[in-house]
Amino acid sequence: MSQAYGYAALSSDQPLTAFAFERREPGPDDVRIEILYCGVCHSDLHTARNEWQNTLYPSVPGHEIVGRVTAVGGNVKDFKVGDLAGVGCIVDSCRSCASCKEGEEQYCENGFTGTYNGPLFGGENTYGGYSDQIVVDAKYVLQIRHDEAQLAAVAPLLCAGITTYSPLAHWKVGPGSKVGVVGLGGLGHMAVKIAKAMGAHVVLFTTSPNKRDDALRLGADEVVVSKDEAQMAAQGSTLDFIVNTVAAPHNLDPFLNALKRDGTMALVGAPDQPHPSPGVFNLILKRRSIAGSLIGGIRETQEMLDFCARHGIVSDIETIRMDAINDAYERMLKGDVKYRFVIDMATLKA
Ligand code: NAP
Ligand code: ZN
Ligand code: ZN
Repeated sequence: MSQAYGYAALSSDQPLTAFAFERREPGPDDVRIEILYCGVCHSDLHTARNEWQNTLYPSVPGHEIVGRVTAVGGNVKDFKVGDLAGVGCIVDSCRSCASCKEGEEQYCENGFTGTYNGPLFGGENTYGGYSDQIVVDAKYVLQIRHDEAQLAAVAPLLCAGITTYSPLAHWKVGPGSKVGVVGLGGLGHMAVKIAKAMGAHVVLFTTSPNKRDDALRLGADEVVVSKDEAQMAAQGSTLDFIVNTVAAPHNLDPFLNALKRDGTMALVGAPDQPHPSPGVFNLILKRRSIAGSLIGGIRETQEMLDFCARHGIVSDIETIRMDAINDAYERMLKGDVKYRFVIDMATLKA
């Protein structure tokens, strides 16, 4: 075992605090990574505060990890010491179920092992990226092909990027599609950039009128203030697909009404309380669908990283010190982040 340092929530109602723990020594298939940057996902906050009621304490959040390889096991072919590497939300899965065999480890029928908060169904807790190092099986480690100078802004691709890329790809968004993105936060701003790069016409729905100029700069073709009924009505039955990233329960009907016949709204936001039930006729009368989507598998995460490298896509970030994490959570809840906090891990001990 080797000594690791990080930040942990010790219970749901205490701020995160400095925390020392141990990581395993790299085995033959493992890579050890010195973590340089870690993005701050809203799921980190949901978990630290036990909002999904499944948190194992102490909880070291963080699943938007980028860093440098410092050790590799004897069987590892794809990484060498000194390489840049990324780790997202998954560090292991059963590898034998139908989903794993198809490269959709996020839907592992035996429960994938999350980068933090352990295997979903029992087992030992895992500690995430708010820390100085991590040891991960190389099969679950990603290659970073962006310029090294962009490394901090690449980190959020490991969750916010893949969580929006995966449904956009699954529902075949491309040139000629009209796509809605609901919520301009960490996930939403990546959805805008990626959908635009896929060739779609992008409509951003926001509750924050002051985000309009940013949304247009990020690549939205239209911005709709979702509380404005006239603006919402103007979008009626025009969208092929919507990715909904909102982190709180809200009325889905105005967005369903914006879908064309046969359109789908994929929910990726994961509020701790259910959305009010949608109007059945809003579905029936136009054969519309409501779907959900969970992060993405390892192969698709690499595909997304390479797509973003080719298209010059990174996240818009504000770099923070590790000890500013509790303040960052409060700001995230107020929507005061443009558009992802990324922890500079060099500040962990400084
Ligand atoms: P975020 O940065 O906080 O963004 C959420 C956005 O939702 C806000 O910027 C805001 O955009 C909008 N919003 C509207 N009303 C809100 C309200 N009452 N409370 C909070 N947000 C509101 O969060 P994120 O990191 O993008 O994560 C979004 C959600 O996705 C979280 O629930 C997270 O746990 C979940 N998530 C799911 C997956 C998955 O695999 N499905 C993966 C990662 C994260 P406007 O100001 O533009 O309205
Ligand atoms: Zn996340
Ligand atoms: Zn599996």
